[in-house]
Amino acid sequence: MRVRLLGTGSADGWPNPFCECRSCEEERTVGRLRMPTAALVDDILLIDSGPTAPYSASLGGISLRRVEHLVLTHGHPDHLAPSILLWREWVSGLTVLHVWGPSMAIDLCRDWVGPDSPVEFHVIAAGDCVTLATAHDSYELRALEANHDPRRIDSIAGEALLYDLQSPRGERLLYATDTGPFTPAMLESMRGRQYDVVLIDESFGDKTDHGTGHFDLDSLPVTLHAARECAATSDHTRVIAVHLSHHNPPTDELRARLHGMGAELMDDLAVIDTAASRSRHLITGGARSGKSSHAERLADRHPKVVYVATGGERPNDLEWAQRIAAHRERRPSHWTTIETADLETTLATAPADAVVLVDCIGLWLTAQLDSADAWGRETDSDMRAQVESAITALIEAVRDCPASVILVTNEVGMDLVPPHAGGRLFRDLLGITNSRLADACDRVTLVVAGRALDLPRSSP
Ligand SMILES: [Zn+2]
Ligand SMILES: [Zn+2]
Ligand SMILES: [Zn+2]
Repeated sequence: MRVRLLGTGSADGWPNPFCECRSCEEERTVGRLRMPTAALVDDILLIDSGPTAPYSASLGGISLRRVEHLVLTHGHPDHLAPSILLWREWVSGLTVLHVWGPSMAIDLCRDWVGPDSPVEFHVIAAGDCVTLATAHDSYELRALEANHDPRRIDSIAGEALLYDLQSPRGERLLYATDTGPFTPAMLESMRGRQYDVVLIDESFGDKTDHGTGHFDLDSLPVTLHAARECAATSDHTRVIAVHLSHHNPPTDELRARLHGMGAELMDDLAVIDTAASRSRHLITGGARSGKSSHAERLADRHPKVVYVATGGERPNDLEWAQRIAAHRERRPSHWTTIETADLETTLATAPADAVVLVDCIGLWLTAQLDSADAWGRETDSDMRAQVESAITALIEAVRDCPASVILVTNEVGMDLVPPHAGGRLFRDLLGITNSRLADACDRVTLVVAGRALDLPRSSP
């Protein structure tokens, strides 16, 4: 999921155009402007669109032509400038734009489209869960209750919503502005979601007597702690403060204070790419080196582990069965275990919030050689092409996997040259596979005699 922040500011933007406080002046000096908060997801979904969102996209060199869904939190003017629908109508050849939001926000839009305009409106309320179909995929959208000062949410705004958005690959975004502290009911609706990205209101900084449905630097850490307690967030969640106003301290100071509560500060037009936070780790070592135990300890730090055993069954092999049983005993019971050599499918369908541990690549390669009927045909170039294309497909699957990946492989070739042609073929192909996997991974560890050594990237 790629989330581009078309704005990170409050309604008035930061700096406030009329203000000369320290916070506004410092931002002016460095030429930073935060426009009203809006987020573009995968270039297909736009969440909120205040007066500047379309222009911000153009400033960032992005066309909004591919946007198929516009999702509105509420009707406050910094979140909804319905004129965007008119600007869109002046372009021909567009497909239908679906506009989702609470009833009063949708009502504000209706006068801005002509009778034949390719726009469909959908009213949603807190608790609703809808599928946002796109040309290629679909997203799941849950509307959650917001704590946005119902006393002030009048005929303009109507009900305000937060959104829980899940991508086709299972990545989850919580869009949580405008809102004040999460109530127990709100936290309950987020329990266990372990969002990948949370965009959260931080309007008021050190001004704590605002009496509005927004956060300040006193109330925000309390809610972040509560969200963590109910597993709405986890170690891997990126929490980004948005809807920022000049009541906050200047950027550098605010960044440090947010860091202390596990949150980040980003500029307008910054991109949060959940793929970039996934890790790829190759662990190699000889037989009985401790490589599997090392990999299992690393994986166990994650709350959700998918263990992929590539060995499969070997009927009539007692020693093999005992090895497998010992491995199985060692694994925590809450891990999901899949026994397959089809790594391409398994990696492509892995849940984004999991870590996938593959043990091991040597057995996977053996299965490829079996299926290519390679043994005894070591010099056959067709066979070799078939196995090499399987290796290429594996590398791509590792790169594209939505989850983090830990791969265990065997280090071969440090021993005597195998006496059989089949053994030499296996050794060579595994060496090639390991090198190519290492290139696709951001971390490579060699385990020798139970000791793990992180290998540096070779210099170009
Ligand atoms: Zn707002
Ligand atoms: Zn100011
Ligand atoms: Zn508002």
